[in-house]
Amino acid sequence: MSKLKGVRGAPDILPRESSRWQRVEDAARAVLRRYGYAEIRTPVFERTELFVRGIGEGTDIVEKEMYTFTDQGQESLTLRPEGTAPVVRAYLEHQMAAQTPLVKVFYLGPMFRRERPQSGRYRQFHQIGVEAIGSDQPSVDAEVIALLSALMVEEFRIPDVQLRLNSIGDAACRPQIRDRLLRYMRDRGAQLCPDCQRKLQRNPLRVFDCKQEGCQRLVAEAPKPLESLCQSCADHFAQVRGLLDLLKIVYTIDDRLVRGLDYYTRTAFEVVNPRLGAQNAVAGGGRYDGLIEVMGGPSTPGIGFAIGLERVLASIPAEAAGEGVREGVYIATVGQEAHRTGLLLLQELRHRGVRGLIDLEGRSLKGQMRQANKERVRYCLILGGDELTKRQATLRDMAKAEEQPVALDQVVARLLKLEQSGKS
Ligand code: AMP
Repeated sequence: MSKLKGVRGAPDILPRESSRWQRVEDAARAVLRRYGYAEIRTPVFERTELFVRGIGEGTDIVEKEMYTFTDQGQESLTLRPEGTAPVVRAYLEHQMAAQTPLVKVFYLGPMFRRERPQSGRYRQFHQIGVEAIGSDQPSVDAEVIALLSALMVEEFRIPDVQLRLNSIGDAACRPQIRDRLLRYMRDRGAQLCPDCQRKLQRNPLRVFDCKQEGCQRLVAEAPKPLESLCQSCADHFAQVRGLLDLLKIVYTIDDRLVRGLDYYTRTAFEVVNPRLGAQNAVAGGGRYDGLIEVMGGPSTPGIGFAIGLERVLASIPAEAAGEGVREGVYIATVGQEAHRTGLLLLQELRHRGVRGLIDLEGRSLKGQMRQANKERVRYCLILGGDELTKRQATLRDMAKAEEQPVALDQVVARLLKLEQSGKS
């Protein structure tokens, strides 16, 4: 029979890679906790309607990229392509606003989009995202952006990472922003790519992020949202910037940075790693003061971001992710009696929280030592026949290649002590 393969663009995360993932996820969770965000876990599928409304008809995601299926109950369901719409649904469904006026949550997990797979772009990928729902205060924008910066710069230490910031106006000034853009495009629109010509009708701001050279040239001279902000949007943006400056968060203004739909308002931002090549956006976010109403709730402001974890991992130098760290103990034994003693020690060590390994395949001592090295343990405990009669074992420090005898009844205490000192 032919071998089955996984789905294109939906890579496996193999055991040799998963510890890097866990380290990044654990580090992110710790930072998110420090900023007061609690985890929310929504299902990986939702009613299709949720994403059609929450992401918007006329977007690439809704038009071309959703994994949608009809289940046996004839319901149209979609694998989540992003996290904000499900969070807003849960926020409304569980009346989370009743508990606290500003709800701060984060999510972490797989997303699904049927994009053309390429380096850095997958059909199943993972995001860490946050949403802060319930306040339009500039201090919330600043905190959310500060959090993103803390993750990217301080925690993940991505070299050369850039934070770009813009404001795209709100319900009051958006009509004017659109009008000015459409007026500019009236005589020039024919030079836009066919995709942008279509976008110009539905969500004209989207032409700003087209990567085509012709469109780029055209929008370079186009009137930007930032130039037509109403007073309250301009004030809001100035306050956000003031707070970021106070916190010494480095950013650049990118007046072409947009989010296309009407319910995205004011602050828009993204994080770019220029070293990543074509798919260089590591995170994106912004304010969505119109979204909750679109989702059937009362008018409620909100802001959030999503980080692409595959791109974070591709951006982190291997050492920074803690590669090569040695941990735990391998118990190498010679003879059946030593193996039985080893098993008991192993059980005790594992019970006390130590990572412990033993040979399960009948390897020679040499083979076991080789295995211990491969497993990157810090210590190897050698139990031979001679040593056993003396109620002793040999403890080998794998990094220093130093050995010393230890009394069998002292082994657990000694290893626990060494583990402790290794961690501090
Ligand atoms: P978005 O939800 O489109 O604003 O994307 C937020 C972040 O998710 C991006 O900056 C990327 O880092 C990541 N991302 C989005 N789409 C993909 C994809 N198809 N493959 C890998 N990462 C993605």
